[in-house]
Amino acid sequence: MNRALELAQFQYGRTGENPSVGCVIVDRDGRRLSEGATGDTGRPHAEQIALERLPQGAAAGGTAYVTLEPCHERSTGEASCSSRLIEAGIVRVVVATKDKHPQGDGGLSRLREAGIQVETGLFEAEALDLYESFFAKLD
Ligand SMILES: [Zn+2]
Repeated sequence: MNRALELAQFQYGRTGENPSVGCVIVDRDGRRLSEGATGDTGRPHAEQIALERLPQGAAAGGTAYVTLEPCHERSTGEASCSSRLIEAGIVRVVVATKDKHPQGDGGLSRLREAGIQVETGLFEAEALDLYESFFAKLD
């Protein structure tokens, strides 16, 4: 998660309206397979980048560390990050903080419904610092 936060901090301020997110994918032995951060102007999303860097099936059985709850829906109609993680066969998702945005919110419950083990709150204070202004605009 430290690395995921580093990735998010690096892209901070470059992702337009979208929050800057970092994602690290590790295999079942904890070895880092891939990573990603939200693209310039806000897309692609971090999870999408990290997954697309891997050959098909490579993330199966792995864990994703994400600084913000993976999105439930995409405004563009593309596959959401939560469904991409499910499709990739990820078995555990560790999230620093939940998303308050209506299209992000609900991602964790979708993951849980798919049988994925979900943990939240790792480095949450750091993540809340990072998303303070993003969350503030939603209120
Ligand atoms: Zn997403």
